[in-house]
Amino acid sequence: MKVLVTGGAGFIGSHYARGLLEGRHAGYEDADVTVLDKLTYAGNRDNLPERHPRLTFVQGDVCDLPLLLDVLPGHDAVVHFAAESHVDRSLHTAAEFVRTNAGGTQTLLEAVLRTGVERVVHVSTDEVYGSLDEGSWTEHSPLLPNTPYAASKAASDLIARSYFRTHGADLSITRCSNNYGPYQHPEKLIPCFVTHLLEGRRVPLYGDGLNVREWLHVDDHCRALHLVLTGGRAGEIYNVGGGDDRTNAALTEELLRLCGAGPGMVERVADRKGHDRRYAIDDTKIREELGYAPRIPFERGLADTAAWYRDNPGWWKPLKETGPLEETEEEN
Ligand code: NAD
Repeated sequence: MKVLVTGGAGFIGSHYARGLLEGRHAGYEDADVTVLDKLTYAGNRDNLPERHPRLTFVQGDVCDLPLLLDVLPGHDAVVHFAAESHVDRSLHTAAEFVRTNAGGTQTLLEAVLRTGVERVVHVSTDEVYGSLDEGSWTEHSPLLPNTPYAASKAASDLIARSYFRTHGADLSITRCSNNYGPYQHPEKLIPCFVTHLLEGRRVPLYGDGLNVREWLHVDDHCRALHLVLTGGRAGEIYNVGGGDDRTNAALTEELLRLCGAGPGMVERVADRKGHDRRYAIDDTKIREELGYAPRIPFERGLADTAAWYRDNPGWWKPLKETGPLEETEEEN
């Protein structure tokens, strides 16, 4: 078995790749893993083992068709994580989001088709559904993305669907809620707040803090992705959720407690443009069809995550020094 993981030097892709290399995914314990990653500011070679007999690392762009046609032959499956993922950046550099997220997905699927790779999982997000006041999204909910990031991901989902409908590609699409865990870039909300507090700095909370997000540990997301890779049906979409939903203000209180900081460490900042109010996922389909259920309770996962950042300043400090958007918070 040989698996190509695009974006495998980023937060979730590297967690999935490490899981494969550590033999944690059923049926793929001996799989060879190729990570293809452009190493943008979000990609970090340190997220992967430096040397592993079953790992091949290729630095490259998912928009580079000749490179993909060279790399893909011999692979049985592709798990496609590579994307521009930070909503705040998409407000300023939307073209890069469309190029990588929409164009990169099309280029990758074209290469998959031409090289005969058998199976693809396209990793998407619940943000493609927009924002809702009550209830929860099923896989049949309309796509109503509100930010350039979400719109570029929605475009990539539609491109993926077209490669299934038109060319019969064996691919499934996943749409997951907000992830958290170790190795997440410190521009994202949880690592941003934890690392600010560890440095004795105040944390910037958007607007009234009442935006609701559903948080899922990255390990649960990766188990869901592997279930979809091995048991998901072609052309189907699988929502992945089941995490813990709470307001950003409540999450901030929890992070203050974990870091031993008081309420005075919160700084209210102006709300972000197009800030979605509430996300909520109905993941009945993946639970009933593939037996998915999250395993990591939020309180434990959050405490472990805060401890990981406390114990690994050498990983995040250099990233924080270079990140131009470090003063903003973002849930996803
Ligand atoms: P990330 O930003 O941490 O990682 C993205 C990786 O893709 C980086 O390693 C980067 O170098 C690489 N990359 C960017 N552009 C590339 C290109 N043109 N060619 C090759 N590689 C490129 O993102 P993440 O949080 O790990 O998210 C991974 C995927 O999961 C994304 O598709 C995202 O939309 C999706 N997702 C994320 C979340 C979340 O909460 N983080 C939730 C649901 C879905």
